[in-house]
Amino acid sequence: MNSQGHIVKKKIRSLKSLKLRKIRYELRTLFFLVYKRRKRELNIKLGEVRVDSSLSFDGRTERLKKLIKERENLDISFRQYSINCSLCGNRMEDLIQDPCSLFWFCRDCYDWR
Ligand SMILES: [Zn+2]
Repeated sequence: MNSQGHIVKKKIRSLKSLKLRKIRYELRTLFFLVYKRRKRELNIKLGEVRVDSSLSFDGRTERLKKLIKERENLDISFRQYSINCSLCGNRMEDLIQDPCSLFWFCRDCYDWR
């Protein structure tokens, strides 16, 4: 049950076939790499804006806010998909979503939380 008193079901992404698990792993890895690359680009941009002397204080603040918001949205989007375990990073195993935090975990880490 969540804080509003609603019953919350945990989501499980489960596959039995080894062949499908391997395909899922490849797709998860692809999404993970796209996410990491975009995050790295945003961090580089943030660093550039912080030292950009051509920007006014307000201009810099505005650009930083926009980039930080974009990075937050990227993290929120990433968290919603079952790409890897939030604790150990495993992308091969079935993943379970914690109904409160919305983070995904492998079975071992889910039981450990
Ligand atoms: Zn794990």
